[in-house]
Amino acid sequence: MENNTVLGRFAPSPTGRMHAGNIFAALMSWLIVKAQGGRMVLRIEDLDRDRSRSSFADQVMRDFEMLGLFWDEGPYYQQNRDEAYEAAFKKLEERGLVYPCFCTRADLHAASAPHRGEKLVYPGTCRNLSPEDIERRESERKPSWRMIVPDEEYAFEDMVQGPFSQRLDRDCGDFVIRRSDGLFAYQLASVVDDAAQGVNCIVRGMDLLVSTPQQIYLQDMLGFGHCTYAHVPLIVGERDRRLSKRDRDAALDELLRIHGTPAAIVGHVAFIAGLIPEEAPLMPGDLLGCFELGALNSLFPDKVQILWR
Ligand code: GLU
Repeated sequence: MENNTVLGRFAPSPTGRMHAGNIFAALMSWLIVKAQGGRMVLRIEDLDRDRSRSSFADQVMRDFEMLGLFWDEGPYYQQNRDEAYEAAFKKLEERGLVYPCFCTRADLHAASAPHRGEKLVYPGTCRNLSPEDIERRESERKPSWRMIVPDEEYAFEDMVQGPFSQRLDRDCGDFVIRRSDGLFAYQLASVVDDAAQGVNCIVRGMDLLVSTPQQIYLQDMLGFGHCTYAHVPLIVGERDRRLSKRDRDAALDELLRIHGTPAAIVGHVAFIAGLIPEEAPLMPGDLLGCFELGALNSLFPDKVQILWR
């Protein structure tokens, strides 16, 4: 494939059926990539073995297809990619960028994408343990593994949000790349897979904006190229509240019951997000004709959230 081909991705975690929020993010990803004549990869992010089920993966693929969100490559999975993650981990370890961490809270959200409001700045407690300390503590419990961050600013230009930057030491802290149970964390797996699969255009929910500087830093340390990014507003149930099980009407089976057809669902989501001025049944391919890539940074009056209705 030529280097300048835009390659985007759908990266669902197979933990349940789709809902309005991930339908919207997937729709935006497809539109932004296709408006550039690009191709889509489907990657099932089944890193977290406890939460992922293959029946959900099959279901999520059927949901994507039903909604006209077609992919050109894949499906790829994460469960059989340990060798690639291990190789990247080793590379970082050899550069002296990784250390064991014995703090218990460390594992909590390590393998899944951290969502808005959950970001903790790790204070570096285990960064300077002596070899003796490490040996003693390793006999008590298995450590997780953290990546040392520099006191540098990581900045990028987001297609929707505009310029965004973080001082990794102050805003993030050393972050987990491998959990104490041996599983590789979302940040590492996602960066390794994007590079291996040739992904160069990442469109996803606003909740992952804060992960992007860490991912750019990982790309730099692993010698991978950078991507373009678009972080789209989250669809929320009420102000500042993520869609949840309480929002039954936003779940795909319920959306089908209420709206009748996939096109009516896509049209409804596109309408409440302001992509079309009047609600009408439409498939993603129909939306492409009126989608203006250049207007992306002024498309959403509220770039953070869109109220579900
Ligand atoms: N698998 C993540 C999710 O479904 C998306 C991760 C990403 O887009 O980087 O929330």
